Amino acid sequence: MPLKHHRMQLPREVLVGNGTIERIPEISRRLGFTESALIIAGSKTYDLVGKTVKKLLEDEEMEVNTFLVESATAKDVMAVEEKVKTLKPQVVIGVGGGTKIDVAKLSSAHQEVPFISVPTTASHDGIASPLSSVKGLEKPFSIMAQAPIAIIADTNVIMQAPWRFTISGCGDVIAKYTAVRDWKLAHEEKNEYYGGYAASLALMSAKLVMQNAELIKPKSEEGFRVLIEALISCGVSMSIAGSSRPCSGSEHLFSHALDMITPKHAMHGEQCGVGTIMMAYLYRANWKHIRETLKKLRAPTNAYELCVEKEDVVKALEMAATMRPERYTILNRQKLDHEACEKIAKTTEVV
Ligand SMILES: [Zn+2]
Repeated sequence: MPLKHHRMQLPREVLVGNGTIERIPEISRRLGFTESALIIAGSKTYDLVGKTVKKLLEDEEMEVNTFLVESATAKDVMAVEEKVKTLKPQVVIGVGGGTKIDVAKLSSAHQEVPFISVPTTASHDGIASPLSSVKGLEKPFSIMAQAPIAIIADTNVIMQAPWRFTISGCGDVIAKYTAVRDWKLAHEEKNEYYGGYAASLALMSAKLVMQNAELIKPKSEEGFRVLIEALISCGVSMSIAGSSRPCSGSEHLFSHALDMITPKHAMHGEQCGVGTIMMAYLYRANWKHIRETLKKLRAPTNAYELCVEKEDVVKALEMAATMRPERYTILNRQKLDHEACEKIAKTTEVV
C-alpha cells in the first residue's frame, strides 16, 4: 500500500526574548503584511500588550482594528469570523493567554487568513500549536485549526504573569513524558501512525524542562526561555505529526475528565502534571522523578494542591479512557476499575 501524503504546516518566524514586541512591525513586513491587521485580545491583555502592538503597526501606516473577546466559545469564534469577513485583514494577531489565542487561531483558519501568536503567558502549548480548544463544540478537547505563521514571545511580558501560569506550562510540557509513550503504544498495538521525529521533539522538550527545573523560577529570564522554547517545540511537534498525538495522551484524558467532573478544577497544565505522575506509574516509568520535578517547580502533585476532592481524582481516572475513545492509551490496555484507580492514586500519593 502506498504511504499517504504527509503535510506539515510550520511557523515561519519565531521570536523569543526580552522586548520582542517592539519587533512586530519588522516581522509583519517580512511576512508581507503591510496593509491591515485585526488584533484579537481580552480587555486585560489589550491594555497589557495589545494597544502597544496596535500603535507599533499604526506607526507603519497599517490599518489596525481590534476585537475583544473574554471567553473561548463557538460563539466567540463566530463573532470573530464575522469581523474578519467584514474587515478582510491581511493577518489576525492573537494577543493573550489561552482563550484569545485559541479564538484567533480557529477563526482565522476558518476564514483562511494567516495568524500571528503573541502569548502573554506560558501556560500551555497552544501558543504555538496548530490546534484550538474551544467550548461549545462537540468535543471537549482541541481540534485542528492552523499553525501560527509567526510566534512572538516577549519574556518581559510573560514573566509578569502569575507564577501559576508558568507552573501550568511546565506541567503541560512534562506531560509529553507519558503522551509520547501512549502514542508509541497505539502504534505497536493498534498500528496507528507514529512519527519518530515528532515524538522525539516532544519528548526532548519534556526532558529539557525537567533537567532545567532549578532554573525555571520567577524573574529568571533564562528559565523562562527554556520553558517558552519547550512549549513552542511541542507546538511544532504537533504540526509535524498533524495531530495532538505527540503532546496529549492519557494524562491529558485525565485532565479533560477532571474538567468535566468538577467546575472548580485547576489549570490545564497543573492537572496534566498530576496525571503524568499516575500514568508514569502505570508505565512502570520513573513516576517519583516526575513528582520530585513538579515539587521543585512548586507545582501541585496531589488532589489537595489541585484544590479538588480526592474522590473526584479517582472518578476522573476511571472516566479518562472514555473521554476520547479513538485515542488509544495505557488506560485502554489496563482497563481499570474503581478499586484499581483508587490504588493508583493512593500509591502515587495523589490522594
Ligand atoms: Zn496540553
